[in-house]
Amino acid sequence: SPRLVLVLGDQLSPGLSALKAADKRRDVVVMAEVAAETGYVPHHPKKIAFILAAMRRFAARLEAEGWRLRYTRLDGDDPVASIPEALLAAAQATGAQSVLATRPGEWRLIEALEEMPLEMHLLEDDRFICAQSRFAAWAEGRKSLRMEYFYREMRRETGLLMEGGKPAGGKWNYDHDNRKPAKPDLFRQGPRRFAPDETTRAVIAMVNDRFSGNFGSLDDFWFATDAAEAQQAFAHFLAHGLPGFGETQDAMLKDDPFLNHAMIGLYLNAGLLDPLEVCRAAEAEYAAGRAPLNSVEGFIRQILGWREFIRGVYFLEGPGYTRRNALGHTADLPAAYWGGETRMACIKAAVGQTEREAYAHHIQRLMITGNFALLAGVDPAQVHEWYLSVYADAFEWVEAPNTLGMSQFADGGVVGSKPYVSSGAYIDRMSDYCKSCAYDVKAKKGEGACPFNLLYWHFLNRHRERFAGNPRMAQMYRTWERMDAGHRAQVLREGDALLARLEAGAPV
Ligand code: SF4
Repeated sequence: SPRLVLVLGDQLSPGLSALKAADKRRDVVVMAEVAAETGYVPHHPKKIAFILAAMRRFAARLEAEGWRLRYTRLDGDDPVASIPEALLAAAQATGAQSVLATRPGEWRLIEALEEMPLEMHLLEDDRFICAQSRFAAWAEGRKSLRMEYFYREMRRETGLLMEGGKPAGGKWNYDHDNRKPAKPDLFRQGPRRFAPDETTRAVIAMVNDRFSGNFGSLDDFWFATDAAEAQQAFAHFLAHGLPGFGETQDAMLKDDPFLNHAMIGLYLNAGLLDPLEVCRAAEAEYAAGRAPLNSVEGFIRQILGWREFIRGVYFLEGPGYTRRNALGHTADLPAAYWGGETRMACIKAAVGQTEREAYAHHIQRLMITGNFALLAGVDPAQVHEWYLSVYADAFEWVEAPNTLGMSQFADGGVVGSKPYVSSGAYIDRMSDYCKSCAYDVKAKKGEGACPFNLLYWHFLNRHRERFAGNPRMAQMYRTWERMDAGHRAQVLREGDALLARLEAGAPV
């Protein structure tokens, strides 16, 4: 009898371990668009359209390559509610008793598959540069996990940007050159855009019908939806974005959501691009003298360093990770995150582009929406659900440690050694948001004071016990202590009032 070969929506790679282990002449591939996956959080319609279009196009490719396929459509005649249900239906129809599956990128699905009443073969997902066993061996016995040390080992192991056993240029890290603000530039090209093909147009129409109530616009859908297009998008980035990527990687402009960012996270995470190939191609641009080292190193660090590290942490930490709340934060996510009214220009810009594009870059996520949620004491589970919903690249293995760990410090310091919080000054330096804001970024208190300025000190003060002893934060606490007592009392009072307004659901 045939075996079933499960291919999930973020496993759209011809080299997937489950496909490699299967036999085209005997086995049946199962792919399913299911309500359990499209509906467990209110995904951005562009994210749903991207994944379903890429699934349908990948299925067509497998069929053309001679695979037998059972593909269930959300709008088909026999819809199924969940992945386990799709497998059971396929088993019944084909007589199959065993399933080959590549381990899913989230515990929820792993657990569901492990409970299946079929013979399950869960294979490693080897589309990563660092195998999970390799990561676990690296993490073993370490008091704390720091991305920087992991990254250096990965550089050595892959040989990426290494010259005679030393890092290219003599330094591991060129972030120092990568913290510049940016100016508007009409010649900046932004990501490569694609006109939707027929398959994608049909998906868009269906998503419009079914998910128009979700936060996010489906207008002007331009994402790549197969591997060939994703390659073109990446080649476009190498030619036009990479040279200037480093310099502007942390900058934010209200009318230029993409700057020189690659916008390939969604393609990597769905399986349309391969991370090691992407790193090697960027390295080749440096070797050929077409892109500077600070840009190439910064880019490779994101993928070889952060992306692999984050994935390692997700699987190391286990299923309970998304429920962590080390700082005991309980406030509701402000309505502004779902497009509600706000006078904060930075939040408005970051949320607005998220609504339009299902995208924001790492600093917008970390230092605007993440920073504010952390300062405002928002329940990290709600922050997690928001990020998982609104970004086209968000799958739990990558989103959860970035949000709960790096951004919200909800894991108590597994991912980051200190919370990423800042006052308005950082945002003013790195963006053009403050110029058009109703608040005054220079005002530390009183009428019109920037909410980041009030809540930054409020946060540090209310979490003093936890953080005052952290050497990386000692300087901030010293600054706070040196301020005049009357000034501090007023900042805390106004911070209290601001939090009370947020709690009452009033816009800020
Ligand atoms: Fe954001 Fe404050 Fe700047 Fe306004 S003044 S854009 S709230 S940082």
